Amino acid sequence: AESVLSVRDLQTSYFTPAGIVRAVDGVSFDLTQGQTLGIVGESGSGKSVTSLSVMGLIDPPGRVTAGSIKFRGRELVGMKEAERRQLRGRDLCLVFQDPMSALNPVYRIGTQVVEAIQVHSDMSGRDAHALGVELLRQVGIPDPDRRMQDYPHNLSGGLRQRVTIAMAMANGPDLLILDEPTTALDVTIQAQILELIKGLKETTVMLITHDIGVVREMCDHVVVMYGGRVMEHGTVDQITRAPKHPYTRGLLASIPSARMRGKPLHAIPGSVPSPLAMPPGCPFAPRCASAMPRCARKPPLSTLEDGRRIACWLEVPDQSGAMQGTREHA
Ligand code: SF4
Ligand code: MG
Repeated sequence: AESVLSVRDLQTSYFTPAGIVRAVDGVSFDLTQGQTLGIVGESGSGKSVTSLSVMGLIDPPGRVTAGSIKFRGRELVGMKEAERRQLRGRDLCLVFQDPMSALNPVYRIGTQVVEAIQVHSDMSGRDAHALGVELLRQVGIPDPDRRMQDYPHNLSGGLRQRVTIAMAMANGPDLLILDEPTTALDVTIQAQILELIKGLKETTVMLITHDIGVVREMCDHVVVMYGGRVMEHGTVDQITRAPKHPYTRGLLASIPSARMRGKPLHAIPGSVPSPLAMPPGCPFAPRCASAMPRCARKPPLSTLEDGRRIACWLEVPDQSGAMQGTREHA
């Protein structure tokens, strides 16, 4: 399939008075036409910074400090802002957790949907309005004609998120990035929004979430991130049925199942280290039950026989001097 996005050794750093924070440190992945890629990790793992880097929305004191982001073969790193703005909202769209951050409270829904269409096309007001109604219908908003007259505060959280997805879809984007699109919604509405996203069959989707249960339902491929790095990357079956990385296993063990409901979850003990105090070796070492002396060194990202990539010393036989797997970076 055709490549939509190719990220190579991406590094995004924040230059803070307290020191340099490598929020994303050597991340690589590919996304082909029609795929849904999940990027999963706890908050502070670098997944949102990865999506903002792809969108070209990293503000000072942060910047992309190394690596490559190719979108349909075009290099985005270092591209002029005017050019990036052309792509943003048309070819590359981002939907945030909180729909109110994408909607202006003082304008009617119709005005905002029409604006989202017209900013990247010379469609007439009347045609843009008709397309807007159709888009609202496609994302499952009942009575879309009337809803065009409403203000954001007239809509429930779930309907508002449908509107922002409709606006993101307005120009038929090549890549739709959804950053925790259902986290702010209640459980029933969450399921409906996930169904909607699943229905966008032709669209290439990058789904950012802390919830590996959502990934299991929605995605073809999964990148598990921690401490700004890729811990494990493979197909959804590899990652959710046969996880190998201790961090992936911890995330899976913390999913509430129907059987477990009402019982306390097994959560990963400890917390994400401060980005200014990342352990020098494996970032997960302070929380890992399998940690051993060599985990004080950074594990290489190896490719296993089944094609998955993993950064864990458990997958590297302990033979000093011998290089195991395909070492992508040390
Ligand atoms: Fe645990 Fe070591 Fe693997 Fe890190 S490299 S996940 S500390 S076993
Ligand atoms: Mg986030």
